[in-house]
Amino acid sequence: MASAEQISVFDILKIGIGPSSSHTMGPWRAIQRFLRELQEHHSLGEIVALQVHLYGSLAKTGKGHGTDKAILLSLIGEEPETIETQTIASKIDQIKIQKKISLLSKHPIPFDPAVDVVFHPQEVLPYHPNGMKVIAHLSHRQEWERTYYSVGGGFVVKEGEETTAIQSASLPFPCHQPQDLLSHCMATGHSIAQLVWENETVWRKPDAIRKNLLEIWEVMKDCVYRGCHTKGTLPGGLQTVRRAPHMHEKLIRDKHYQNANEWIHSIRQATYNFQETLKWISCFALAVNEENAAFGRVVTAPTNGAAGVIPAVLLYDLCFCQKEVDEERIIRFLLVCGEIGSYYKKGATISAAMGGCQAEIGVSSSMAAAALTENLGGSVAQALMAAEIAMEHHLGMTCDPVGGLVQIPCIERNSMGAIKAVTASQLALESNPQEAKVSLDKVIQVMWETAQDMNTKYKETSEGGLATNIPVSLPEC
Ligand code: SF4
Repeated sequence: MASAEQISVFDILKIGIGPSSSHTMGPWRAIQRFLRELQEHHSLGEIVALQVHLYGSLAKTGKGHGTDKAILLSLIGEEPETIETQTIASKIDQIKIQKKISLLSKHPIPFDPAVDVVFHPQEVLPYHPNGMKVIAHLSHRQEWERTYYSVGGGFVVKEGEETTAIQSASLPFPCHQPQDLLSHCMATGHSIAQLVWENETVWRKPDAIRKNLLEIWEVMKDCVYRGCHTKGTLPGGLQTVRRAPHMHEKLIRDKHYQNANEWIHSIRQATYNFQETLKWISCFALAVNEENAAFGRVVTAPTNGAAGVIPAVLLYDLCFCQKEVDEERIIRFLLVCGEIGSYYKKGATISAAMGGCQAEIGVSSSMAAAALTENLGGSVAQALMAAEIAMEHHLGMTCDPVGGLVQIPCIERNSMGAIKAVTASQLALESNPQEAKVSLDKVIQVMWETAQDMNTKYKETSEGGLATNIPVSLPEC
């Protein structure tokens, strides 16, 4: 066993709420960390005032991405995994009206979100475009100040820990890049999922791995189901109409079901032609990202903006490719997804503020393509080839959300990412990977180079592309 920096599947797939992993979940985690660390040296009761300063992309698109809301919810001690999403609006309104916040629901202090959450769109902190500074003013005129960076997918790095924040573990099969995975699999005869499972046992007991993966699946499934059955207009002021429920109504026809499992069963029982199957994939993906845009509960995979791709491709597999809905297939799929996502985190980026949308939709499509290929009986090399093909055709994709909201182009883009994942898998399954000219290792390197060359206005700043060419006038929230 070698010692290596490694990332667990559960670091890549996380239960949270929309709309953004970097702009909602990351700041949420940063505030939690700030309060936790402050309490190691001071008591909560010593805080008399608090300000949060947002920089770079967090400031430019933070309002549309719900950064300010996430900060308030975190300050009052809510958890993204468990908060009742229908209570979010009233909790935020209460703080805004009272101009008071109860830290961790224990210690009230004066706090006006319009004044105490400060946006600095023209300033960028040194380490990453998503920087935030939290300052607590304590009694006796002391201050507690810390700087954090939300580096994508909900990951947070504290200033001063930029080079030490990566998790270290001794894994039976350490993999720094896809080539390592391929070598281990060839040496052991393991599939990707089998190998990842063995690595995960270093962090969790087998029962917990299984249970936690199935919990992730439950959240994904519920999210798709809710999104397919919730009509209306999305929040934020763009007046974006939810389309998944209308597509769904036409596709599901007159089927009867009482819950998500019966719903999946009814889809599996029906006969759909090629066009309808494609529509189902799009519908599944739209459903998740409409829920994400509405602050619904989603699985970050590897980000929230791209949360629809993996559930859509997994449901495609379960509904249209398999004889039975088998928990083992779901577990295998998620293990492969998590592993492929980790290579982008280690070798490139999963932050749109660093790499544009190729780092979100491109990565999720690559993850899903590999997982589908393994589930459809492809070899390890074919699964890696599918991941490579999916990313190859997302290279250079920019992030330019209209109005700073995770809606246009984000929601449709999940459908496109899912369809590309399916196509990439089909191509790989019909190919000999030994004849491939581009490896997954190489495409990850190229994606990173492309990210570094990309103009900043296409990196989640809403200063270019669709964001500046589609006129919108959003209300101040
Ligand atoms: S354009 Fe892509 S990367 Fe940017 S917010 Fe939307 S989904 Fe995320």
